[in-house]
Amino acid sequence: MFRNIAGQRELIEKMIAAVDNGRIAHAQLFWGPEGNGQLALALAYAQYINCQHKMRASEGADLAGLSADSCGKCPSCLKFEKLAHPDLHFVYPNNINGSDIKKDSQSLDYIDVWRKTVLENQALFSYNEWVDAMGIGNRQAIINIRDCHRILQTLSLKPSEARYRVVVIWLIEKLSETIASTLLKTLEEPEPQTVFLLVSENPDQVLPTILSRTQMVKVPKVALSDMEKFLQGKGLDAAQAQALAPRCRGNLLEAKILSGNNEVRKNFHTCFTDWMRLCFKVDMPALVALSEKLSGWGREQLKFFLQNCLDEFRNCLLLTNACAHWTEGDAEEKSFWKNFSRYVTNTNIAQYYDLFNGAIYLISRNAHIPTLFTDMSIHLCRIIAAAQRDLQQQPAGTR
Ligand SMILES: [Zn+2]
Repeated sequence: MFRNIAGQRELIEKMIAAVDNGRIAHAQLFWGPEGNGQLALALAYAQYINCQHKMRASEGADLAGLSADSCGKCPSCLKFEKLAHPDLHFVYPNNINGSDIKKDSQSLDYIDVWRKTVLENQALFSYNEWVDAMGIGNRQAIINIRDCHRILQTLSLKPSEARYRVVVIWLIEKLSETIASTLLKTLEEPEPQTVFLLVSENPDQVLPTILSRTQMVKVPKVALSDMEKFLQGKGLDAAQAQALAPRCRGNLLEAKILSGNNEVRKNFHTCFTDWMRLCFKVDMPALVALSEKLSGWGREQLKFFLQNCLDEFRNCLLLTNACAHWTEGDAEEKSFWKNFSRYVTNTNIAQYYDLFNGAIYLISRNAHIPTLFTDMSIHLCRIIAAAQRDLQQQPAGTR
């Protein structure tokens, strides 16, 4: 339901108005970076379109500031909430499990895992988490031709019971060009009472032929005040939520991980400082052990850890350039940044950024974690040693 979604009130009101005015575009693409809640919005929208007893604030319903929402109680809503409505169809990236490479897989092979993943996470999870949930190892998940054929076949039949039949395609960018043509005609002119809700986190990777056939719906980052409410919903008190919200970068996935354990963020900082100290000492056995320890974390957590490291480098650079007033952190963090900023210079900051951004990319490509972190440590030892040499070569008094 719309009222359970974090923020996005302006966008939701537009969606409500479109439905109430009978202007439902037959193919819409909800796009925005990972963690903005596109899938949750698409699902709430599909439910609202079909709800048989829509609730209105004007009729006294308390809808968390919204003008209208699904009732959550009618037969249609109950089925939508379980993702089990016969007229709600899903397509999402998938791949074969294990070594059976004789045939393509299709979304239906994973429908139970899909429902469980969506419901348990309130539709907030990443592509990596989805790949892990399917248990397909290091394979990349894609949208296969069998899914396209199934959709066409389903749409050739009449809807079972809903006003509007809805096809949700999560991560449409995982549809390859060779098979996209199968869907183009139906996207352009779907069967009556059929709505395609596409979701993308990388619209620049979506085929132009798909883009040109859809109405683009931009899902913005979650606003700071909405993020605070979201964090409070995760059990943080007002002060904790206020302190943590800016660190979540408007990303609900990051907020979920950081709020899951109050110590996690602190843990990120401790882990970063340990890592840098070991690189400073070139303590390879301890660095290898650290890589081993980090490989026990989930990929999502590692990704946010590396992003957090980038924040730490940025704070060091700000101190290098006498902009302490722009840094946000507690006394311990500021003290570390001050000391370490000697090794974060205007010259080498790009090397740190390239190294960490490259690693974030590789993590999402299923890199082997202990190897990745050991390689990073070797690079870091070099960058820090070079910065040390430069410091020593500076005339005394200018350091
Ligand atoms: Zn309803």
